Amino acid sequence: MDLDQKDLGHKLFHTITFGCQMNLNDSERLAGQLRTIGYEATENIDQADVILLNTCCVRESAEKKIYGKIGEMKRLKSVNPNIIIGVVGCMAQKDKDKIVKKFPHVSLVMGTHNTHQLVELISQIETSGEKVVSVWDQAEQLAPDVPTVHKSQISAWVPIMYGCNNFCTYCIVPYVRGRERSRPLENIIAEIRQLGAEGFKEITLLGQNVNSYGKDLDTQIDFADLLQAADQIETIARIRYMTSHPRDMNTKLIDIIKNSNRICEHFHLPVQSGSNSILKQMNRGYTTEYYRQLVTHIRKSIPGASITTDLIVGFPGETEEQFLETLDFIKSVRYDVAYTFLYSQRSGTPAAQYEGQLPLAVKKARLNQLMAVQNEISLEINKQLTGTIIEVLVEGASKNDAMKLMGRTRTNKIVLWEKTGTEKIGDLVNIQIDKAQTWVLKGRLL
Ligand code: SAM
Ligand code: SF4
Repeated sequence: MDLDQKDLGHKLFHTITFGCQMNLNDSERLAGQLRTIGYEATENIDQADVILLNTCCVRESAEKKIYGKIGEMKRLKSVNPNIIIGVVGCMAQKDKDKIVKKFPHVSLVMGTHNTHQLVELISQIETSGEKVVSVWDQAEQLAPDVPTVHKSQISAWVPIMYGCNNFCTYCIVPYVRGRERSRPLENIIAEIRQLGAEGFKEITLLGQNVNSYGKDLDTQIDFADLLQAADQIETIARIRYMTSHPRDMNTKLIDIIKNSNRICEHFHLPVQSGSNSILKQMNRGYTTEYYRQLVTHIRKSIPGASITTDLIVGFPGETEEQFLETLDFIKSVRYDVAYTFLYSQRSGTPAAQYEGQLPLAVKKARLNQLMAVQNEISLEINKQLTGTIIEVLVEGASKNDAMKLMGRTRTNKIVLWEKTGTEKIGDLVNIQIDKAQTWVLKGRLL
């Protein structure tokens, strides 16, 4: 297929994406721009004329991996000196000088505020053959919307805002993504309508803190208004959003979700720690008591809703007692899923300067303990679903078994079942759950 594209005279590009949904969506927008100047995607990196590494710097482990990958690209440049190798996104924003100096085979370094310039920058490199570095320190304004090529045919991400104003003390995101910039409501709604018309069944509204949506706009519109407007679009079956900041999630919003038709009963509420003093040092702006009340309200208003979280272990100065508070906290909240991370010291963030940075071995031991407890809870919660019938949106073939299909529940649980041939991608089907595991449910089509 790729060879055909090449034979047809198409120029080919290959993207490698690291990090969160925001980055995956950015890569779709990079692809959309390249399409406008005649490039087609290829899975075969050796065939590519342009390779873009869309990078992440939230944790050091990702950064190390990405530096290794950039180094590997040298081989391709020596085979094809005309190849354009680009490093874009968060690491380009943070480390442009280092990348330019250390990797002469990189021809494009493009920051997070410059993503919309891709066509212009690639054309510049094609014409001049010279290296291009485009990294604005900040973005005063919202970048213009650019074309998008969606990876999935049924689920689409819709960015509603960029940047973050929260400055959690451990986090690099506000430094590399800039201040909050919301897209106008009309543009977002028009995009969702268009996606519905194209056959997409599910959309996920994306932002670092979606609950802050609209605060920077000249209107009175907030996230609740946006959700209510999106809920009116009948061609879309499911609406998701991420990420909510627990501090800004309120009962009004929970009530709107409860009374909506399309907004899924899944709350991703990153708590980060179960210790009030650590939360304070993290600058999270809430207490565990407040958070518990929120969870109680969600469970009372929307029984069956799933609640997931992010947790960081080994924040500087975290004592054994404070870690045990987090363990107790997750035991009592009982999350459906928790994404657990080792604290990573990010230079430029306040916490990187805090005393009491913990040895890796301590952090790893705590992470293992936390994961073991959480996995048990996830399994127990999933087991309660055996024997039930659940509505699932068919996403496609299972990654590990071509005879099985994969889909998700409204609560964002992955479901696998034997393909029958009657179900199509994008269908909403009923699955009888026969078996529950920690990360997946297995069943059969009814
Ligand atoms: N904006 C979202 C929020 O506030 O939850 C998520 C953004 S962040 C990319 C995703 C997760 O990475 C965070 O919830 C946090 O748990 C984790 N994270 C961020 N900085 C980290 C660090 N320095 N070390 C370890 N984990 C980190
Ligand atoms: Fe980072 Fe906190 Fe902003 Fe999330 S809310 S992106 S953790 S600073």
